[in-house]
Amino acid sequence: MTGEIYRERLDVIRGRMEEASEGRYPLPRILAVTKTHPVEVIFPLLEAGIVDIGENRVQEIRDKYPALCENFHFHMIGRLQTNKVKYIITKVCLIHSVDRMELADEIRRQALKKECVVPVLLQVSPCGEEQKGGCGMDEVEGMLRALGRMEGLQVRGLMAVMPNTEDTDFLDGLFRGMRLCFERMRDLGIPGVRMEELSMGMSHDYPLAARHGATMVRIGSALLGQRNYTVPVN
Ligand SMILES: *Cc1c(COP(=O)(O)O)cnc(C)c1O
Repeated sequence: MTGEIYRERLDVIRGRMEEASEGRYPLPRILAVTKTHPVEVIFPLLEAGIVDIGENRVQEIRDKYPALCENFHFHMIGRLQTNKVKYIITKVCLIHSVDRMELADEIRRQALKKECVVPVLLQVSPCGEEQKGGCGMDEVEGMLRALGRMEGLQVRGLMAVMPNTEDTDFLDGLFRGMRLCFERMRDLGIPGVRMEELSMGMSHDYPLAARHGATMVRIGSALLGQRNYTVPVN
């Protein structure tokens, strides 16, 4: 994989986002989701101007961090177990997946210990899909008010993972709902909370995310290609 291929793919991605957004919002930043990909494949992203990378497993962040930390900023985008917070707290620039108070409490505890402040996003479940994580739409304001009072973490916005469906109208409604929620929360001016980032959109739905004002899209396969998981037997 070379920087040239990444540049071409980024051009396609940005072109499709521009077309979909019709100038309504600034183009989202692209977070390269590098999970399952080895460091050799990740390095050339630099030649394409990418420095922000997303990972969804604590162990993978720990493994890749030494080789990549000088050049890249790590984002934690996956489900995070409370007992693993301590391993990544000083390694990531943003935790996208804070979706429960128990996790926020542990982040605060570890941050105070390490004397740092951790930027986080509140993960919201746009249609109540439990297994993907995220608090309910009706819990967002209460959670933000509670998080805003906590030391050791700084809320920077919202994150959502959309359901895996081809139903574009349905997805369109969910993205629009997330954007409305984001703006409503921003306009409330909740103490201690900065509503700057709206992290939503992946390889199969990023144009819609751009159309509805995502500030960050998380792109894996459309940028890095499919990773082949099958190991040859012979
Ligand atoms: C894997 C992953 C992505 C990227 O998925 P692609 O479909 O490969 O773009 C984005 N967000 C989260 C939370 C992920 O786990």
